[in-house]
Amino acid sequence: EALLARIAAVDSRIGAYLTVTADQALDQARRADAAIAQGRLAPLTGIPLGIKDVICTQGVRTTCGSRILENFTPPYDACVMARLKAQQAVMTGKLNMDEFAMGSTTEHSAYQVTRNPWDTDRIPGGSSGGSAAAVAADMCIAALGSDTGGSIRQPAAHCGVVGLKPTYGRVSRYGLVAFASSLDQIGPMGKTVADCALLLQAIAGHDPSDATCAPEPVPDYTAALTQGVEGLTIGLYQPHFDHPGLDPQVSAAVLAAVETLKGLGARTVEIDLPHTEYGVAAYYVIAPCEAGSNLARYDGVKYGRREAAGDTLMEMYQSTRSRWLGPEVQRRILLGTYALSAGYYDAYYLKASRVRTLIMRDFQSAFAQCDLIAAPVAPTPATPIGAHLDDPLAMYLMDMYTLPANLAGIPGISLPCGFSTEGLPIGLQLMAAPFAEARLLATGHAFE
Ligand code: GLN
Repeated sequence: EALLARIAAVDSRIGAYLTVTADQALDQARRADAAIAQGRLAPLTGIPLGIKDVICTQGVRTTCGSRILENFTPPYDACVMARLKAQQAVMTGKLNMDEFAMGSTTEHSAYQVTRNPWDTDRIPGGSSGGSAAAVAADMCIAALGSDTGGSIRQPAAHCGVVGLKPTYGRVSRYGLVAFASSLDQIGPMGKTVADCALLLQAIAGHDPSDATCAPEPVPDYTAALTQGVEGLTIGLYQPHFDHPGLDPQVSAAVLAAVETLKGLGARTVEIDLPHTEYGVAAYYVIAPCEAGSNLARYDGVKYGRREAAGDTLMEMYQSTRSRWLGPEVQRRILLGTYALSAGYYDAYYLKASRVRTLIMRDFQSAFAQCDLIAAPVAPTPATPIGAHLDDPLAMYLMDMYTLPANLAGIPGISLPCGFSTEGLPIGLQLMAAPFAEARLLATGHAFE
């Protein structure tokens, strides 16, 4: 009730929720109370959580930030939702996002702009901007986001919360609306590292419904929180900090955070990630190719809306997709379709896939020398609303620090590490080898 009152009081100024499931939330809360009374207590029993609207929720509208899914109510729960329900968690509602998770500002939602709670003239980041803003503005206790190229870590950094992108395959993608299937991962966003550990514990682990979900055993993340950082080696890649696009305030805050970790017993080492500078170029070929293919299903027949214009099937497809998919989504579909066209495959997709392999190998050799890599999350604090709307390339370049982890499939965490002189939050990114989430969480816990 307190959270629903809070949402009613502040969300008209923030715009984090697309759907508030008040009645269901109260019902779930009552059932959680009953479970507690009977001594059936799971770690998330009765905890109110917000869910990014890219995750299918049985009986609750799931729009993915798109008009084409405006009336889509999934008949089933995503694997992560079923796992949260098994722990009697409470869902407060569905959170705003860039349409189909394509974007870094949440301005590409077909429904509303989400504002950064720290400065409502600024973006919350994206694409999980609704999730980050809802956590930061106390409109849920924690949230789920999804990260294809930074969409958990970057909005977490801009809103001053913790966000974890797990290893590719750590969390089931069953019921996650697909954007780029080889990059997408669901992960937790919360006010503390410990909250993220509890959420990850609930959602991680093998799921036979997702063939890419790893059978790797799930460690006890909460127990691992107190491991500390004594003796850990943190890798630093100097070009990350010399980049001309990096705001000196971000660089200073991140390097100060590294000093704090050294004070806690870590040491640093210079590492080399020579191919990561091609991350933006490779990602913006691979992600649109996969998106173009995944989004072929929104044809006015199988899902969502249909625009009944024209006489032929092709005209119906064309008018449906032109009318109900937004400009950024259409741009990605066109880019991906172009890159996958006969004759272009070798020049674009194949080339980008090779670069991706080189980036993976960079990380493999780096993790032979260090336990964690520290870097910025975003090159600047949150930008003003509208700043990049006419310049997609400028928006894509803002992803340079987050995309490599997705291309390599490794986990990454964003931790609040200070504020700019304007009072905007700054994030520290830590990356680790595959399935080393416990180490990221332990380091984050020691740091905060
Ligand atoms: N900003 C990136 C993009 O627009 C990443 C988005 C994401 O992680 N979903 O594709």
